[in-house]
Amino acid sequence: NTAYLNGEFLPLAEARVPVMDRGFLFGDGVYEVIPVYSRRPFRLAEHLRRLAASLAAIRLEVPLADAEWTHIIERIVAAAEFQDQSVYLQVTRGPMAVRNHAFPAVATPTVFVMTEPLVTPPAELREHGIAAVSAADNRWHRCDIKATSLLANCLLRQRAVDHGCAETVLFRDGFLIEGAASNIFAVKDGVLLAPIKNHLMLPGITYDVVLELAAQHGLPTQVRDVLEDEARNADELWMTSSTKEVLPIVMLDDRKVGAGGTPGPAFKQMYGWYQQFKASVMR
Ligand code: PMP
Repeated sequence: NTAYLNGEFLPLAEARVPVMDRGFLFGDGVYEVIPVYSRRPFRLAEHLRRLAASLAAIRLEVPLADAEWTHIIERIVAAAEFQDQSVYLQVTRGPMAVRNHAFPAVATPTVFVMTEPLVTPPAELREHGIAAVSAADNRWHRCDIKATSLLANCLLRQRAVDHGCAETVLFRDGFLIEGAASNIFAVKDGVLLAPIKNHLMLPGITYDVVLELAAQHGLPTQVRDVLEDEARNADELWMTSSTKEVLPIVMLDDRKVGAGGTPGPAFKQMYGWYQQFKASVMR
């Protein structure tokens, strides 16, 4: 499994980062996860655009041009033994001489790319749906930055696992925000409700795809603040992410979502549109 680290291609198992790296000591870095289907990166331009936004937000320059990122990713993807992949890319503020929260005068970013097999959710999860728990969102107020400091997200996701669930749905001040590692949509009376992007949630690439598909196929949509009550009383809840695509949440805190506690009709439509769209751009 080939990785890329600071200008070099090398086996992943041999990639080493100094312990004084700010990514290691402070989680001072940003990342992307890019799904790859049949060795073709999905929505690469959008992922690179979001990476640039994350880097700007943490005051780091984009270390490589889009063409260079693309070249690195293509090379790593080509070298992998598996067809469907999940490319992980990370930029940290690099090493420091002494441990100091303030930035070094001149940062030498650490740039790392690796690939792993992409495991899309088994059909069973789509057919029966997943269970989720809820939690108060206790993260910071810059969740729009795809930061490597993921301690809160890890704790929140583990909370789901501890309850035998697949995701934790986050509410803040009475509003639906997102999941521990996903965006969340609600459907009520045939209308798709999407929390409006702001500094409290990650602007998901999959979130954008879902909204584009809804518009294309004429699914009525409202992008706006979604109340916690609206989410709890929705007919359907979905979670979306690059690796999970779109999944139906059928239980929230041991209560059925909608009447049946089964995947709803809007989900089934959207899932079909999503697969169709993937196939059309991957051809
Ligand atoms: N929100 C959070 C907190 C995430 O970590 C992720 C990605 N795992 C998402 C949303 C979904 O983003 P994307 O569709 O770009 O994968």
